[in-house]
Amino acid sequence: MEMSPKEQEEIRARLMQEKRELTKRVDRIHAHAREPLEADSSEQAAQLGNVAVVSALETEAIEEIAEIDAALQRLENGRYGICIGCGEEISPQRLEARPACTECVDCAEVHDA
Ligand SMILES: [Zn+2]
Repeated sequence: MEMSPKEQEEIRARLMQEKRELTKRVDRIHAHAREPLEADSSEQAAQLGNVAVVSALETEAIEEIAEIDAALQRLENGRYGICIGCGEEISPQRLEARPACTECVDCAEVHDA
């Protein structure tokens, strides 16, 4: 895919924006997770349940950040928009929906199956 410097700049800006939002989300999750547990045991159980949910959300956000970093990297070396599975170009519609995606629809489906 031939991209003009302007297009590349737009994608970079969008990826950076998403990364900032995810980073903020992780910070909020951390702030929340640091709250001390209540002494009451039933409260504690509920909070421990929350911790599990929180860490799943955090993992998800951290993975998304890693994806974005990888996309920024590929933008730098001219590999952006090329599927890491088969080397074909990822459709513009797919990149529009998920700018950090690394695989074409066909390759992504193989993983989901
Ligand atoms: Zn592919």
